[in-house]
Amino acid sequence: MKSWVEISEERLSGNYHALRTAAGAGIPLLAVVKANAYGHGLAVCAPVLAKAGARWLGVNDAEEGVAARGILAAAGIPVELQPRILIMGGSLPDEADLLIEHDLTPVVWGVEQLEPLAAAVDRREMGFRFRVHLEVDTGMARQGVPPGEGLETVLAWLATHPGLRVEGVMTHFASTEVALSGQTLRQREAFEQAMGQVTLAGIRPELVHVGNSSMIDNCVAAAGEGSSVVWLRGVAARAGSDAMLRAGIGLYGYCLTIEGEAGDAASLVHEQLRPVMTWKTRVLAVREIGRGDTVGYNGTYVAQRPMQVALLAAGYADGLRRELSGPSGLPGGWVMVHGQEAAVLGRVSMNLTVVDVTEIPDVKMGDAVVLLGDGITAEDHARLAGTISYEVLCGVRAEARLVE
Ligand SMILES: *Cc1c(COP(=O)(O)O)cnc(C)c1O
Repeated sequence: MKSWVEISEERLSGNYHALRTAAGAGIPLLAVVKANAYGHGLAVCAPVLAKAGARWLGVNDAEEGVAARGILAAAGIPVELQPRILIMGGSLPDEADLLIEHDLTPVVWGVEQLEPLAAAVDRREMGFRFRVHLEVDTGMARQGVPPGEGLETVLAWLATHPGLRVEGVMTHFASTEVALSGQTLRQREAFEQAMGQVTLAGIRPELVHVGNSSMIDNCVAAAGEGSSVVWLRGVAARAGSDAMLRAGIGLYGYCLTIEGEAGDAASLVHEQLRPVMTWKTRVLAVREIGRGDTVGYNGTYVAQRPMQVALLAAGYADGLRRELSGPSGLPGGWVMVHGQEAAVLGRVSMNLTVVDVTEIPDVKMGDAVVLLGDGITAEDHARLAGTISYEVLCGVRAEARLVE
């Protein structure tokens, strides 16, 4: 194997418990494992999170949900003890039977999604009501039904279709990493309006859930009135429901930096989280180059002195961002070789990368090299690539293995 990802079980469950503690007593976390657990390997992470106590997992689509069911069963967790699985990214009409068969719980927001589900439930004469979570669009214009008329239509439809039961009501916030965000306040108001309509329609969901890792992070500082967690508790209590929070990136040890006032205090959680992934590759070859020799495509790096360079068995096809290439003539990003920084020389290629090991003794063919982990974080990659840690992590294409 030329490149692989080592997942720390201790850190993954430690991050889960840190986020739970920060969310506060009595608020369970839905552990988000979409996009192959943010590049960390669903097969490795789902059982660890279940063992850590997660009663809900969140995936994007039915296909990921079926995979998660298989993984949990293979890990020896009997169906009745497996976490519930929420399909957060919407589902298509032809997936209704698959959802029911694998006990996957879809997020829904429109009659055109509900109809095929209700039809599938009727066909199966299940003898129990199939549970769905209703998403309210409070301002992202992505998924969800807006409060008001749109929601009224869906609620009226639900009232005449007893095969389906609204187990959860949820929304998604757009700016949770912004301290005291006006957008969050407006979204909160819209959600309260929607919950009022749900209650009036006689629906009492077991669960009301919102948020993401940054919301938990942000709330550590903004205790009291400003805290969206405190707000959520109130909304859920008024509806006769339990509150739940959803968390993804924080489980894997990353979180956006809180912007604006109270940002420093808010990084409390951020600082307790520890990166779970160590992405490694191996040295394919070591060679000496002379002054004036160029490295890689277009010869963008020119050696100013004799150097020792190592060829690594990973490139942008594996998820190593091409932006780690140095700007013309300069080194760019770095990797960790024997615990020391080794600068990327020239352009990152599709499956190969050259790094400077002149000052690092005893580097030889076959040595393991850290592409992402202690000494080089997904935030470092993201800064160099002009993106966010999320995109770096879920872009990593390497087989995951569990360690300690
Ligand atoms: C991905 C996702 C989350 C998790 O967000 P993080 O920022 O990774 O914690 C929560 N809710 C929904 C609906 C999501 O799609």
